[in-house]
Amino acid sequence: MDFSDWNVKIHWELHLLPPKMKKVEYKTPDELKLLTERKRRETQQLIKKLKKMKSKKLDEMVHSLHDEAFSTFDCLDCANCCKTIGPRLIEKDIDRLAKHFKMKPSAFILQYVKTDEDGDFVFNTEPCPFLLPDNYCMVYESRPKACRDYPHTDRNRFHQILKLSHKNCETCPVVYEIFEELKTK
Ligand code: SF4
Ligand code: SF4
Repeated sequence: MDFSDWNVKIHWELHLLPPKMKKVEYKTPDELKLLTERKRRETQQLIKKLKKMKSKKLDEMVHSLHDEAFSTFDCLDCANCCKTIGPRLIEKDIDRLAKHFKMKPSAFILQYVKTDEDGDFVFNTEPCPFLLPDNYCMVYESRPKACRDYPHTDRNRFHQILKLSHKNCETCPVVYEIFEELKTK
């Protein structure tokens, strides 16, 4: 095989690679709210289409976009979720966080927790009381499960949370870009 054959081969193989996702750029929650509103109708149409897909196939697509997006986007350059949406706290979260601060769970609740309009436990300030000025989490190893799971784009059965994820486009630049990318598929 001479070099021209190699050129053809490489060109052909590159052609077969899936197109790269657009690099995620940071956006403020205000910008994301505006963009999500502007694209509401087309995103709703996309959701209708995604609901008809095989669940496993959709998970594969979303997980791969999740990996690609977070390979270049650093949550430390964002922290929108920690600043604007409090995680729902379960008993285990409160016990773990209280232990982290060597406090009794009841004392931890008094100092850091309130109940929201749905009766769920949430932190009593926004931004989160444990968010540091450089966007690091003061309790990272002990953070609530909801913080570990957010933005849910690497979970299975993504079809179950399409509506919630559409809402998350208003907060998370990665989720917003994943939906935009799915529109091109
Ligand atoms: S999960 Fe999303 S909203 Fe939260 S810090 Fe990372 S990119 Fe930002
Ligand atoms: S506990 Fe940590 S990860 Fe969770 S909202 Fe607060 S700062 Fe963010």
